[in-house]
Amino acid sequence: MAGADGFDAVVVGSGPNGLIGAITLAEAGLKVLLLEAADEFGGGLRSAALTLDGFTHDMCATVLPLARASAAFRDLALDVEWSFPQVQAAHPLDGQDAVLVHRDVAETAAGLGSARDEIAWQQSAGATARAGYGLVDSLLSPLSVPRAPLRLARYGVLGALPATVLARALFGGERGRGLLAGMAAHSMVDLRAPITGGYGLLLAGLAHQVGWPVVRGGSARLAAALVARLTSLGGVAESGHLVRDLSDLPPAGVILLDLTPSQVLAVCGGRLPGGYARRLRRFRYGPGVFKLDWALSGPVPWKDPAVALAATVHLGGTMAEIAAGEAEVAAGRHPERPYVLTVQPCAADPSRAPAGRHVLWAYCHVPNGSTVDMTTAIEDQIERFAPGFRDLILARVAHDTAAMQRHNPNLVGGDIAGGFSGWTQFVSRPLLAPHPWATPLPGVYLCSASTPPGAAVHGMGGYHAARLALAGGGRAVRRDATVRSG
Ligand SMILES: Cc1cc2nc3c(=O)[nH]c(=O)nc-3n(C[C@H](O)[C@H](O)[C@H](O)COP(=O)(O)OP(=O)(O)OC[C@H]3O[C@@H](n4cnc5c(N)ncnc54)[C@H](O)[C@@H]3O)c2cc1C
Repeated sequence: MAGADGFDAVVVGSGPNGLIGAITLAEAGLKVLLLEAADEFGGGLRSAALTLDGFTHDMCATVLPLARASAAFRDLALDVEWSFPQVQAAHPLDGQDAVLVHRDVAETAAGLGSARDEIAWQQSAGATARAGYGLVDSLLSPLSVPRAPLRLARYGVLGALPATVLARALFGGERGRGLLAGMAAHSMVDLRAPITGGYGLLLAGLAHQVGWPVVRGGSARLAAALVARLTSLGGVAESGHLVRDLSDLPPAGVILLDLTPSQVLAVCGGRLPGGYARRLRRFRYGPGVFKLDWALSGPVPWKDPAVALAATVHLGGTMAEIAAGEAEVAAGRHPERPYVLTVQPCAADPSRAPAGRHVLWAYCHVPNGSTVDMTTAIEDQIERFAPGFRDLILARVAHDTAAMQRHNPNLVGGDIAGGFSGWTQFVSRPLLAPHPWATPLPGVYLCSASTPPGAAVHGMGGYHAARLALAGGGRAVRRDATVRSG
């Protein structure tokens, strides 16, 4: 089908942002063609039997609170089954019970070990959850007039702080501090840097507000449901189609690129004006990840059995330890005892593995482009809180940063966030502009996680880019205009 004329819009890349962008355009009546380089659609939403037959592994995203909360997904009513773990997240600590994040704010707060910290959790994470969709929408549309300015301002006072400063200010004990640090470390930013507290608070609030669910059967089911929605709206989706240059595309008035800046530079060739191209070249990618997937003969033997009830487990111990590990990565080094983000999907969805067996994945952050094998460091952290874990391993697959990028060209140097997510690139993704999704090329828009609001499965990059294109991008989009090689 590609190469035929008659499309109003072409979307390059079928990650959640590309898919939501394509659906938003199709819902507005545009005839959309979606082109994906890989054999499967979904980008970060792909699942495969990576290790052994009968074991379903998510290659990237598994735990999807923002796909429940974001405006782009909320009203879609997709045909997927959401599975919630009994405990939203767990944070084991040496020599004591793990800290558990429940859907209920009070139940979570009660586990923090002191009245002061209990109140602090209610007033920080609890208040974030109570701020509801107004706050979520404001944060996921950071360049729009905020939907809930007062709630955003209240959140911003705390959220602007570095996670280490915020955690010390809020909590007297290690349980609250470690918990917030584990949440904030999802950002892949040095926890001593501004706004990392905000990442932690948002994730904690979402655990209470919408939960941290997985999609039954694997995240690829969500991608399939999005593709089905697109085709039901008359869109055409084609996989196995690598776009090397804009001239590969059929004529269309709107082009959305679900790509990061270095790929945009390659695909647009010399068509981009020099100043804009230079700014894209200055875009900063963040650290990479080293990821392991395992097939296990049984559940992970956590010292605290309650950890088995959580799909997401933050390993790294105290705040000081996690912050030190992340600071090492930010400085371009490999921590001996890294923060390990561990996901046990079977806690929410036993269908991922044969009866009694389990799948597990974990990654740690590493410097961008790292080739260091972190298998031992990651498994040592799991053994620390679950002795005997290694005895359960039936099969293991490792992905270093190069393997991550081979799997998905958007993971440049293993960066899974579409670019450094510190305050300097929070809204200036990929550059500081009122409409960073627009490019100087008429009708051509960026929509990946390298645009606001950044990483995670929320689809809002695609949503904003598509809406801007439909509004004309500040200029009238000529539906009959053709963007071809110059
Ligand atoms: C290991 C890992 C774990 C993660 N865990 C979570 C999680 O639990 N929860 C969460 O919310 N987020 C998670 N994320 C982040 C999330 O997956 C990403 O933020 C999200 O997928 C970004 O969406 P996107 O549409 O911008 O790009 P992507 O999902 O990266 O999709 C880009 C697509 O474009 C395609 N493409 C690239 N170049 C071309 C080309 N030239 N021609 C055609 N197609 C092209 C790629 O093949 C890919 O399919 C995780 C990511 C990784 C890697």
